[in-house]
Amino acid sequence: MNDILPTDNISSAQPFMNLANIGLLILFIASVAACVFIFWKIAHKTGLPGFLSLGMFIPVLNIFLIAIFALITWPIEKELAEYRKKYGPLIKQEKPEFDDLPICAKCQTPIPPGAKNCVNCGWPDKYKDIV
Ligand SMILES: [Zn+2]
Repeated sequence: MNDILPTDNISSAQPFMNLANIGLLILFIASVAACVFIFWKIAHKTGLPGFLSLGMFIPVLNIFLIAIFALITWPIEKELAEYRKKYGPLIKQEKPEFDDLPICAKCQTPIPPGAKNCVNCGWPDKYKDIV
């Protein structure tokens, strides 16, 4: 039974394992670098120094850091609030098309400009005889 299996089974697999380990190591280092980069950018956006991102690797502190980043007012938020105070909302709310048209007292249909009577029910002319 042992004759069928190559005797150097483990040693022949060794280079592949090393390559896989090197690949995993590269992936790990790339992931850590990406995390540091991302948290560094977030820390900068909060207005805090970027090195605080290294605190992400310290258990418990990382939770507090995320909470601080999420809860403090970011400089961009302060700036936006000042602009909104000065100039109003950046995106103007569009009025609905029939927002400022007069509305029929009987059926609540907007009466288009120039029309004397409601286009839906004819008010007030149609009701003149009844009232
Ligand atoms: Zn009407």
